[in-house]
Amino acid sequence: MTKSCPKCKVAIEKNMGCNHMTCKNCAHQFCWMCMSRWQNHETEGTGCKTLAQMFDEKRKIATQKAEAKCIWMQKFKTIWDPYLIKITEIENKKKDIFEQFEKVVLPQTRLKMKKQARNFCNFIFGNIYFANFPE
Ligand SMILES: [Zn+2]
Ligand SMILES: [Zn+2]
Repeated sequence: MTKSCPKCKVAIEKNMGCNHMTCKNCAHQFCWMCMSRWQNHETEGTGCKTLAQMFDEKRKIATQKAEAKCIWMQKFKTIWDPYLIKITEIENKKKDIFEQFEKVVLPQTRLKMKKQARNFCNFIFGNIYFANFPE
């Protein structure tokens, strides 16, 4: 893995070891992780404090975003839940009405139509019969 020196831009390869780098070309001392000057550079454990702070900041922002999303979802839920319940109620009512129609209204209508059709046929055939009846 290579990075270029922040001062002279010469390519530097990192060997295993600490983040304190010294450029072979210009003797510039810097931190491998955050590329800032080694003077006044703070370390945290074996790592780079600046980088750790950057990660902390990122984690904080991610957590805040997640929390904001969660609050928004809750708001959305309190607004929409009553509507969803209403819609479900209406759908159930529709289903009931349709079932009622299929079970009760439809058979009755069919029966009525059958009766009417039979009466109509009787009427027509009766007329034909009587029309052809020799006088
Ligand atoms: Zn350099
Ligand atoms: Zn650093």
